Amino acid sequence: MTVPARPVVGRFAPSPTGAMHLGNARTALLAWLHTRAQGGRHILRFEDLDTGRVRGWAYDATRRDLEWLGLDWDAEYLQSERLPLYAEALGRLDTYPCTCTRREIAAAAQASAGAPHGEEAVYPGLCRAGRDPNRPASRRWRVPDETVCVSDELTGANLCQSLRSDVGDFVLQRNDGVFAYHLAVVVDDAEMGVTDILRGADLWMATPRQVALQEALGYPTPRYLHVPLMTDFRGERLAKRDGAPPLMALREAGELPGKVLAELARSLGWPPFDAVPDAVTATELIPLWHQSVHFHPVKSLSQT
Ligand code: GLU
Ligand code: ZN
Repeated sequence: MTVPARPVVGRFAPSPTGAMHLGNARTALLAWLHTRAQGGRHILRFEDLDTGRVRGWAYDATRRDLEWLGLDWDAEYLQSERLPLYAEALGRLDTYPCTCTRREIAAAAQASAGAPHGEEAVYPGLCRAGRDPNRPASRRWRVPDETVCVSDELTGANLCQSLRSDVGDFVLQRNDGVFAYHLAVVVDDAEMGVTDILRGADLWMATPRQVALQEALGYPTPRYLHVPLMTDFRGERLAKRDGAPPLMALREAGELPGKVLAELARSLGWPPFDAVPDAVTATELIPLWHQSVHFHPVKSLSQT
């Protein structure tokens, strides 16, 4: 990895919608290691715009879980306190109101050429010319006719997407006024001076559209590092809703954080993390991060 020109600023950006599970904790650990290994500033940002899904207790539970693991932060932000910033950015983009329902979009996408492959349908542009004035409208970004390519600093993976045909005009503000994650994340990372985004591989496919937004808003593009999501014994991704063991439960059961950290580090299967002792501190793992990044990149992110 080249010597960074700017001081490194990293972040962990959990959604306070429930208890952190081991998978979230591993991503939090890696983001922290990546920042601290470079002597950077680390930010904790609660992505709490979707107020219907937010659980009030989850903020403190997350803070306590992170502290328990020894993962500290230099600044904390709540997206819910930053709405004017998102509104300002939205106002600088070419957007239009859309009143389509999910069903209408799916039907139109089906009728036009390529049916979607698993993911959400590419919006076929139904409201570009006008919309139903009697229904609440979301705001979609009229995406530029461009192909955006991104690369991952951890895996070396590259990904190009045509904004028009692979992504489509996407929603930046829902019809209930909630700003979309893609907009908020791009505004915040730029506003907070984030240089390095280490996050779960589930967001890799969303990276081109976020980079497109950065370019449209005149923001720099940070370095991206996508890490594999933790899977259970069936190879399925851990998720809050499936009752993945919350970190809180381990903490309250008197489990030792050093043991949990060791398990998280080993679970990656990346040397030298795979051979850490039975109990470690987060600080002890810092020097291992560079070795791991240099010598054992993840093979591929593929279509996560
Ligand atoms: N808030 C997102 C999540 O909980 C992470 C966003 C990001 O890291 O860009 O998965
Ligand atoms: Zn529409």
